[in-house]
Amino acid sequence: MRWRDQRQSDNIEDRRGMSGGRVAVGGGGLGIVILAIAIYMCGGDPSQLLQTSPPPSDVQAPSTASNRPAAADENRQFVGAIMGNLEDAWQQILPQQSRVRFQKANLVLFTGQVSSACGYASAATGPFYCPGDSKLYLDFAFFNELQREFKAPGDFAQAYVIAHEYGHHIQNLTGIMDKVQRAGQNNQLSVALELQADCYAGVWANFAAKQGRLETGDVEEAIRAAGAVGDDMIQKRTQGFVVPDSFTHGTAKQRVEYFAKGMQSGDMRQCQTFR
Ligand SMILES: [Zn+2]
Repeated sequence: MRWRDQRQSDNIEDRRGMSGGRVAVGGGGLGIVILAIAIYMCGGDPSQLLQTSPPPSDVQAPSTASNRPAAADENRQFVGAIMGNLEDAWQQILPQQSRVRFQKANLVLFTGQVSSACGYASAATGPFYCPGDSKLYLDFAFFNELQREFKAPGDFAQAYVIAHEYGHHIQNLTGIMDKVQRAGQNNQLSVALELQADCYAGVWANFAAKQGRLETGDVEEAIRAAGAVGDDMIQKRTQGFVVPDSFTHGTAKQRVEYFAKGMQSGDMRQCQTFR
């Protein structure tokens, strides 16, 4: 992806290297429940929240010693550019296509664990969006995981992940996220919410493509990522079998389908995953 000439977003909160502290289970009961739901809906493992000690710091963390500054700065520049492009895209698309006023979201960069309006989370939960503070949360360690564990390398695969979380922000602005949360735990609604976020990521990809930002292989990178993080793939990877009733994100096939739908049309109205 061509991103170096893209304006940097002003909405990056760099909290890397700050200690998130120990998880205060007693203090934030409700927040933790809300965050657990949010994480569950984003394919993470909410049981990570109940750990009272921080996760081992040597796992995948892009920290330590000599290689950090260059690599970390590159990642920081990259996400700054992607966020800048996402803002440019939705500033234009959202009012045009849905008559909803656009408001920017912040991206919080963290290492290890982080405190959000939804409670505490550890890097093990993966990237997530907290509707309570309208912020995206990302530990760069996930980029390594995407490459090594999900076998979805490439900058456009990483961009897709951020665009998916930004899709949740758009759902927060349109009000659909609130409706789904009010409905309580419901896998079908959760799948619809996730597939719509994938479709919105595709709508953004259409915008970036029109700007000539996509390079050969980029679409394949995003499709590989969308497929790799499908519930059936994750469950196969972690449990060795697939349990359709417990799907919360949709299958690999569905996720790829909706990303492609958004990308081909560039139209939010093609993202009607709620019947
Ligand atoms: Zn999600």
